[in-house]
Amino acid sequence: MNLVLLGPPGSGKGTQAKALAERFGIAHISPGDMFRREVKAGTELGRLVETAMAKGELVDDSVTIKLMEKSLSSKECDSGFVLDGFPRNLAQAEALDEILAKLGKRLDCAVNLEVTEEAILERARNRRVCSVCGAPYNLASHPPAVAGKCDRCGGELVARADDAEETVIERCRVYHKYSEPLVEYYANKGELVTVDGCRPPAEVTSAVVSAVLKRQAVKP
Ligand code: AMP
Repeated sequence: MNLVLLGPPGSGKGTQAKALAERFGIAHISPGDMFRREVKAGTELGRLVETAMAKGELVDDSVTIKLMEKSLSSKECDSGFVLDGFPRNLAQAEALDEILAKLGKRLDCAVNLEVTEEAILERARNRRVCSVCGAPYNLASHPPAVAGKCDRCGGELVARADDAEETVIERCRVYHKYSEPLVEYYANKGELVTVDGCRPPAEVTSAVVSAVLKRQAVKP
C-alpha cells in the first residue's frame, strides 16, 4: 500500500499517517518530523532548514526531494509507505512521480483530509507533542493522563514552535498557494479520495481505511 496524505496544517495528517502505517504495516514518512529531528540535533541539514520552518515557509525543493528519494529507496519502504507532508507543491509531486517510476512503484491513492480553517486554528492552539518520542496530543480531544507528560514515555509535552497563531496563518497561506493545487493534480490522475477530517481521529481513520480499500477494490 503506497499512500500520500494531503491536507492543510493541523488537518491531522500526522495522527492519521501513524494510524495508517500501523493498520497496513507500512512506513510512515514525514519530512516535517525528519527536519525537526535534524534541527533538534543541530546538524548541517537542521541549520539549513531551521529558518524556513520557523517562519512557516517551505524548505527548498531540492533539499526536500533528495531526502524523500533517500527515504523511499530505503528497505523500510519495501512493504509500502504513507507520505505525510510530501509532496507539498506541483514540482514535488512531479518529482515523486519520477522517483516512483525509477523504483518501479506506484501510488495507490492520495487521501485529502478536508478541515475548516477554524478547526485548524483550534487544533494548533491545543496541539502538544512529546519532546522525546514525538507522540501527538490534543489538550481538548486527546489530553495526556498526567498534565504535561507523555503517556508512552513520560517525556515533557511541548507546543510546536510553528503552531504559534501567526505562523499557522502563514502555513495556511502557503498551503492554499502551493499545496492545494495538488488536490486537482491527483483528481485529474484519478488517484484522489477525499475524507472529512473534522471528526474525532478514530472516526477519520475508519473513513480513510474504508475509502482506500474501496478504491483498491475497483482499481484496474
Ligand atoms: P509538517 O510537520 O508537515 O507540518 O512540516 C513542518 C515544516 O517542515 C513545514 O512548515 C515546512 O517548513 C517543512 N516541510 C515539511 N514538509 C515539507 C515539504 N514537503 N516541502 C518543503 N518543506 C516542508
